[in-house]
Amino acid sequence: MEQAVIDTIYVDGEFVIPHGTELFDLHNPASGKVIGQVRLADEVDTELAVAAAKRALPEWSATSREDRIDALRRLREAVVARREELLEASRIEYGAPVRNEWMVDSAVGAFDGMISTLEAFAFVREVGSATVEMVPVGVSGLITPWNSNVFFIADKVATALAAGCTTVVKPSEMSATQTQIMTQAIHEADLPRGVVNVVTGRGEVVGTTLTRHPDVPRISFTGSTGVGKVIFRESAEHLKSLTLELGGKSPSIILDDADLEAAVPGALFSGFVNSGQACVAGTRILVPEGRVEEAIEIAVKHMSEFPVGDPSDPATVIGPMVSERQWERVQSYIHRGVEEGARILVGGAGRPEGLQDGYFVRPTLFADVTNDMTIAREEIFGPVLSILTYRDEDHAVEIANDSEFGLHAYVFSADSERAHRVASRLQAGRVSINGGYEPISPFGGFKNSGIGREYGAYGLEGFLEVRSVMK
Ligand code: NAD
Repeated sequence: MEQAVIDTIYVDGEFVIPHGTELFDLHNPASGKVIGQVRLADEVDTELAVAAAKRALPEWSATSREDRIDALRRLREAVVARREELLEASRIEYGAPVRNEWMVDSAVGAFDGMISTLEAFAFVREVGSATVEMVPVGVSGLITPWNSNVFFIADKVATALAAGCTTVVKPSEMSATQTQIMTQAIHEADLPRGVVNVVTGRGEVVGTTLTRHPDVPRISFTGSTGVGKVIFRESAEHLKSLTLELGGKSPSIILDDADLEAAVPGALFSGFVNSGQACVAGTRILVPEGRVEEAIEIAVKHMSEFPVGDPSDPATVIGPMVSERQWERVQSYIHRGVEEGARILVGGAGRPEGLQDGYFVRPTLFADVTNDMTIAREEIFGPVLSILTYRDEDHAVEIANDSEFGLHAYVFSADSERAHRVASRLQAGRVSINGGYEPISPFGGFKNSGIGREYGAYGLEGFLEVRSVMK
């Protein structure tokens, strides 16, 4: 796909040339080559977008449940119509392997999930003699990262619109091509002007204007813990409603009764999801001391099921890192792991054989990792996994919870009651037992993994204020 300059943003129902003039290079991570540029918006553009969202709010917040469901259906269809284009852009701009069709299908699912949530949601409730009304919080700033651009925009827009809020989306500047196609889909859904505005620009410019803005009472942010904390501080002046979906260092606990032939590949899969560039990646694989040799043997054998390579090859499971910066970050963690005494079982530093261009890393598996090592504590955001050992169930829970993060956890066991008992002791916003998954269950983190929840009814409540009327 040949890329020219993406030189429009979306404000008040129209594609307009931004006031901002900075050009930002877009790369194909598989080749490292520049594939285009995006013209970045600035504070002036952000102000115009907020003003448009503010003007659109009275009408949109007064829409009926049916109107909003109709709008979500139109958005869904518009995204479905651009599915192939979005998949191609995710591959070229992000390096997503072609087999990762979920990059776009999850976005379609986000609309489905919010439609079914909205159908059943009680906006008015009785509490004692009072009537409790759930009302839209107002103009919402939606700030998203680069690692699943299409989904994050879809999910946040769907939820905000379902609540009756109007929006200004601030996507990652590194995902401008994917954003542009998503924005065209949003435009085709024929929403009233100003309900969704999309302003691609730098975080410190467009993002900060949103987080400080008195007319934006809500921020829904997905990204790093460091930026999440900046947003928390910036939003304090106006005591904004905040959802912060941040980083993770999720444990995969393999209990001693688990079938290792199933559990170990399951743990690898949870760690290598999205080429390791996933907040939910299960990067600490906890195995019982007595079975570690067996687990290692099985893990090494199954590593061949996670080949790194050209994202356009259907066999590829792990694509390149999104940027050179991300590549260097992952390399530095691999070196650090070795320096601190961990043992490389598979992979290691440098580029994989035959992949000298682009930002490819070698999928790496470490053993002899202890939970105090840097590679067990910090989010690497690449295909680098660690095997740790534990003595007994209590020790496994202790290691799992000994983390500044608490986004996700995975438990593998032959005994689902036992697995549930372990799950109920974990400080994590989501626990998956033997690969279990429910897209509309609440999603969000404990501790430094964030504040608030997304998806389904819990996500919708985040965009609503609560008014009690007492007679
Ligand atoms: P990032 O925090 O660098 O950027 C995220 C977004 O915030 C981008 O749009 C960026 O431009 C913007 N931003 C940067 N500085 C800002 C500021 N001062 N004010 C407002 N906005 C600002 O994250 P990233 O590198 O794009 O994404 C990777 C990170 O995202 C990882 O840490 C990952 O764990 C996290 N993540 C979390 C989840 C989750 O749901 N918990 C999901 C995916 C990614």
